[in-house]
Amino acid sequence: MNEQYYYNIECKNHKVCNGLLPDRWLDKRGRFLCIPCETTFGKLSQNNSNGILKFAENIRCLQCNKYEKVVSYPSCGQHYLCLDCFDYNWYSHIKLPSIMFPYNKEIENEYRNNPYDEKWNNYCLIQDYNKQVDSWVNLKQEIIKKCIPLRKCPICK
Ligand SMILES: [Zn+2]
Ligand SMILES: [Zn+2]
Ligand SMILES: [Zn+2]
Repeated sequence: MNEQYYYNIECKNHKVCNGLLPDRWLDKRGRFLCIPCETTFGKLSQNNSNGILKFAENIRCLQCNKYEKVVSYPSCGQHYLCLDCFDYNWYSHIKLPSIMFPYNKEIENEYRNNPYDEKWNNYCLIQDYNKQVDSWVNLKQEIIKKCIPLRKCPICK
């Protein structure tokens, strides 16, 4: 029996990154972070959070001073800024396009279940799709590299 394979595990930071992981993801480190979160927030954290951000409500944002839904600074994990300011600092408010699988759901499930089968060579749109996913990840990482000064916690520096 083939198991199905969906992207339906939310990244632990999903509220800010919208990242998803496949349901059969074997996360040996037990973090369940999407690739952009793992490679950016993971490296920054000096607080043993390993890139898993903390979320809270009704806390004052250090950037705009409003009491909002907030997320911790990745570097310190102790001070917070609101989701809008976080979005601005990290993603520059650039919304990435969502990428649709180019064939129907049945074919998608089959593909996810067995992506290395040679028969996929006959599905010309799948290679395009994989290129799009790759460039989506790269684009996101590019965006994340910008605006670095805004990302330091103003208290911890
Ligand atoms: Zn993520
Ligand atoms: Zn704010
Ligand atoms: Zn701090």
